Amino acid sequence: MGHRPKVLIHRAEIARTVRSLAGRIQADYAGKNPVLIGALKGCFVFMSDLVRALDIPLTVDFLGVFSYAAGTESSGTVRLLHDFRNPVQGRHVVVVEDIVDTGCTLAFILEHLKTKSPASIRVCALLDKPSRRRVPVSIDYLGFTVPNRFIVGYGLDFDEYFRNLPDLCVLEEDA
Ligand code: 5GP
Ligand code: MG
Repeated sequence: MGHRPKVLIHRAEIARTVRSLAGRIQADYAGKNPVLIGALKGCFVFMSDLVRALDIPLTVDFLGVFSYAAGTESSGTVRLLHDFRNPVQGRHVVVVEDIVDTGCTLAFILEHLKTKSPASIRVCALLDKPSRRRVPVSIDYLGFTVPNRFIVGYGLDFDEYFRNLPDLCVLEEDA
């Protein structure tokens, strides 16, 4: 038995949406020198496209968070594996997430960041799966709302594979 990826959101549509998110962020953060903080590893493709669509001075940092056991079920507990390197005190922070599912990871990141006294915090997420929410979190810049399916590609993995797919896909099981 194998897993076959089926395209859910094509790369052209992703590119249009990333440009539009960048346009909104650029308008809101002109003159503010924001720091974009990505949640690894899932954000890495989205983050790289997003920052290259932003024509304002900004810095980039990353948090390593771990919430999923192997496979597709959230464990609900979140651990910090890698903290960002540079101080965010007084900075305008934009948290960049691949997907908000139960909300546990994002809630954890926001709590962690709040202890570092940033000037402001907003959230940019490529995908939202609202049907699975357990912790209420608000997303300021959202790409797509997706159904309750397990998504891979464009940085998102299944057991670490499929991150390199250029489209957002769902996995179908081969007979
Ligand atoms: P949450 O803490 O909101 O339940 O989950 C957030 C993290 O779980 C995401 O950043 C992502 O790494 C992972 N995740 C949630 N849903 C999916 C999904 O459909 N596909 C993949 N590949 N990862 C997911
Ligand atoms: Mg993630």
